[in-house]
Amino acid sequence: MSEQLIHKTAAELADALAAGETTSVELTQAHLDRIAAVDAGVHAFLHVDAEGALAQAAESDARRAAGEARHLLDGVPIAVKDVLATQGLPTTCGSKILEGWVPPYDATVVRRIKDAGLPILGKTNMDEFAMGSSTEHSAYGPTRNPWDQTRIPGGSGGGSAAAVAAFEAPLALGTDTGGSIRQPGAVTGTVGVKPTYGGVSRYGLVALANSLDQVGPVTRTVLDSALLHELIGGHDPLDSTSVDAPVGAYVEAARQGATGDLAGLRVGVIKELAGDGWQAGVMARFAETVELLEKLGAEVTEISCPTFVHAMATYYLILPAECSSNLAKFDAMRYGLRVVPEGDPSAEAVMRATRDAGFGDEVKRRIMIGTYALSSGYYDAYYGQAQKVRTLISRDFAAAFESVDVLVSPTSPTTAFPLGEKLDDPLAMYLQDLATIPANLAGVPGISVPAGLADEDGLPVGFQVLAPALADERLYRVGAAVEAALTSRWGGPILAKAPNLEGPR
Ligand code: GLN
Repeated sequence: MSEQLIHKTAAELADALAAGETTSVELTQAHLDRIAAVDAGVHAFLHVDAEGALAQAAESDARRAAGEARHLLDGVPIAVKDVLATQGLPTTCGSKILEGWVPPYDATVVRRIKDAGLPILGKTNMDEFAMGSSTEHSAYGPTRNPWDQTRIPGGSGGGSAAAVAAFEAPLALGTDTGGSIRQPGAVTGTVGVKPTYGGVSRYGLVALANSLDQVGPVTRTVLDSALLHELIGGHDPLDSTSVDAPVGAYVEAARQGATGDLAGLRVGVIKELAGDGWQAGVMARFAETVELLEKLGAEVTEISCPTFVHAMATYYLILPAECSSNLAKFDAMRYGLRVVPEGDPSAEAVMRATRDAGFGDEVKRRIMIGTYALSSGYYDAYYGQAQKVRTLISRDFAAAFESVDVLVSPTSPTTAFPLGEKLDDPLAMYLQDLATIPANLAGVPGISVPAGLADEDGLPVGFQVLAPALADERLYRVGAAVEAALTSRWGGPILAKAPNLEGPR
């Protein structure tokens, strides 16, 4: 029974709860059992809150019995990336510098899922302060890809993606600054959505780069992402960059897309996101998915976005600039770790020793790059210049969206690579986000849906769909159409093809 429960989608679990076929306590326990059985290997979680989740589940069951369920998903458990503040639950951002920090407040998205009655299973592993594409930069050890535990689950949100892929949680929250929801989705065979910038509150999200960060859903189906997106989205007065616009009809768009009719939809294939360095198996599954869109009635054209080739260089100036200033708050006085060097208790010495011990190599690297790019005399040459290129990238999107409704590309140039392979080569690691970064720079929304398995390694490939700002519905319509057609071609969901996922290991 509990095996069956963990394999259900969140939408199916919501139906089962509504029909009285299960209880929140039963299905929360089923997921906790799954975590106990597989997470020693996967390491998707940094903290599991069994007691808290079961208490929330019991309250949910009591509400439902009284006919007072607060939301369709009331009682469906969820995992939360450890970069989101959770009152009473540790929040480390995958860093030693925040070890033991327990926030006194909830992030707005966390508050919204709690208010709707979703039990929180725990906090998921991530690259330190969300810097990375493999989760290997976590100070607490890497997460392993449930498809093949010798490989990376993507990053920085590898924990959330792996938890969902390994059936440890039906839903998870992630954050995407340059691809950290979409790329882990691609390499684990799951669905990930980066909403329009400002569409989901960032209040209580420990900022990596404020102008790029966005919270979004991590799920196994497009419909589940739509359900979660509708729940967490919408204006928040506590976030000054939150957009005061109504939440879109994502669920309706997903249901409509699943009927498979894309007649009249104009799709642009981004010319620059292909070529040298793109894995053959990734390009083959991408080409097939584009053909599929045509069969469903879409008009496909090739679109050139010439400035996208500069997106990575632009991102790696803007992001370090913003994060070097954000991370200045970790000064040994306010939160977490505090190291007092022997013989010198001065504020400067304590700060230096704490940061030296508390931050990992990738974090230090970016603080140095950012501080350099912002320093007087270099500001115009680097940061100012990057901001100009950022505007050009937004203009390429705007021009493209004059002639097409959505843009498509592979989500990531390769499938999941072996743990350790790119750890000593930051540039190779950065290249994983070539296709995802432009959307963050321009603030437009994107989704990654499974497109099949690469022939050379049998590992999942992601298909990315991008839409204009505040047109997130289009992601769900196109994503659901692709998902419905491909799962029927495969005879079931892609995760059913994963060699290790059925049954306990
Ligand atoms: N991999 C990218 C980086 O390291 C993206 C990170 C993210 O989206 N949080 O910056």
